[in-house]
Amino acid sequence: MHKKNDNLGETDFEASLRAIEDAYVAGLPGRLDEIENCLQRCLEEPDTAGHYDALVLQLHSLAGSAGTFGFSELGFRATDLEIQMNAFIKEAVHEPGSFTPIATGVGAFLRWAVANAKAKGAIPPAQPSPPPAPRPPVEAGSQRLIYLVHDNTLVARDIAGQLQYFGYEVVIITELARLQEYIDTRIPAAVVMDLGFPAGILAGAAEVARIKQANAHRFAVIFISTRSNFEARLATVRAGADGYFSKPLDMVALIDRLDALTVQEEQQPCRILIIDDDLDTARHYAAVLRGAGMDVHVLDKIPGMLQTLGEYRPELVLMDVYMPECNGIDLARLIRQDNMYLDVPIVFLSSESDFEKQLDAIESGGDDFLTKPIQPAHLVSALTSRVLRYRGLRGLIMRDSLTGLYNHSAIKENLSREIARSTRALAPLTLAMVDIDHFKRINDTYGHPVGDQVIRALARLLQQRLRRGDIIGRYGGEEFAVIMPGTPAQAAAHVLDQIRESFSMIRHYSEARDFTATFSAGVAEITADTDTDELFRVADLALYKAKHDGRNCIRNAP
Ligand code: GH3
Ligand code: MG
Ligand code: MG
Repeated sequence: MHKKNDNLGETDFEASLRAIEDAYVAGLPGRLDEIENCLQRCLEEPDTAGHYDALVLQLHSLAGSAGTFGFSELGFRATDLEIQMNAFIKEAVHEPGSFTPIATGVGAFLRWAVANAKAKGAIPPAQPSPPPAPRPPVEAGSQRLIYLVHDNTLVARDIAGQLQYFGYEVVIITELARLQEYIDTRIPAAVVMDLGFPAGILAGAAEVARIKQANAHRFAVIFISTRSNFEARLATVRAGADGYFSKPLDMVALIDRLDALTVQEEQQPCRILIIDDDLDTARHYAAVLRGAGMDVHVLDKIPGMLQTLGEYRPELVLMDVYMPECNGIDLARLIRQDNMYLDVPIVFLSSESDFEKQLDAIESGGDDFLTKPIQPAHLVSALTSRVLRYRGLRGLIMRDSLTGLYNHSAIKENLSREIARSTRALAPLTLAMVDIDHFKRINDTYGHPVGDQVIRALARLLQQRLRRGDIIGRYGGEEFAVIMPGTPAQAAAHVLDQIRESFSMIRHYSEARDFTATFSAGVAEITADTDTDELFRVADLALYKAKHDGRNCIRNAP
């Protein structure tokens, strides 16, 4: 992101900030002309409220943007005039000639600004501090590599097979002494190993302790053992183990643990919508936020805002308070009217330093008030913490607690958005309904908690095996809905069939005995005029057909 630009010796980020700054400087004379025009109108037609308002708006906009681009002196002077103008406007009755000192002040200001803006370097922009560097991407490659160390080849193959269904790459090592050599060649995400070896009942722990001491490599270690006494557990803890599982192995619990230890939750960039009628300022802040790895959409016109909100789905709205078409306070109220955006953080960014107005803004539904100019690092951290909190809350509202997948209402909401998007792009989209076969029987035979384990195993499998862009939800008890954008029904059925096959091989554990389960699925692709309910209905018909055809199969919609 902060790539060096060879010609200029500056980073892309600095270059883009500079370009925006240049555009701002180029636009300054125009802004000053506009102030001049407003002043003229005030003088020609005194006591016309609209003229005074227009002048104050221009001064306000200049005050805010000048500081942002480092023209602090210009910003201070404009702010000063803005305050005088506001006091003047507030007066119930204007004494004759009371505007004259302000007019003189604005005139003097304009002459000063024109002279100084033209004299190159007279008002040098301050160097903005660069935003914090984005987090380096997680090293890919060995993220799913597991070394399975076990001296019983048959047991090892069995466990390896189960782990592979969940998308792990497993290398079996049967001699404890060779673990070190493998680690030196390729660092795994985790080592899953037995505790006892021919060398001793705690030999596994001793070897791990030795390797961990001798190397700086970081990898997770999980022990599996038939022993579950205190002494054995203590030895593994002392060796620095991250988990301990006694046999018979609860595979879903093991996968959960491995996922937690190895899968670095990939942070999606924060999606920020900036609403500001002043395009230069908006672009400046957009560049700052993008430089910090955020995803930014800029809106400088109010009409079309609702559509942008719906499609862009910002996780935070950063907006100006004073805009000619509609002020930010009303805009915040308007956004809050829609249930969907009740909890999206709205942060005002304005040069307004009047405390009462800040309160107004916050009462209207804004969450915070930041004052321009603001240091990039401060802006980035203020927005990041709000977005993360918002994500946390959304997660609680939209996720199913047993599986962590989208819940019923969230998956429906996602489907209607994805249908709209695909229809517009003329791209295919397939919905799959997945339902575990004879689940009632599983519950009745092994008990409800074991049934829950089966549901979680399927949820995990879907998460591991489907594409990143696919959206997975728990639609009901043992029923899942999968939205596959960009995928025709035929291809979707093919992918699901492979998952179906894997699922049928996964062993589930119960006190009574191990068992396997299967699922059936129905897929349906959108046509020119499908809506959400219709697509669910058609996919459900296909699922019904799969059940009717004997279960453990996938069927397309007729
Ligand atoms: P089919 O193959 O036709 O789908 O048969 P089925 O037995 O799977 O379907 P049915 O809809 O008759 O039974 C589903 C059962 O799932 C009924 C319900 O008690 C159970 N169930 C629903 N939610 C949960 C849950 O969260 N956990 C567990 N363990 N069971 C659940
Ligand atoms: Mg079922
Ligand atoms: Mg069912």
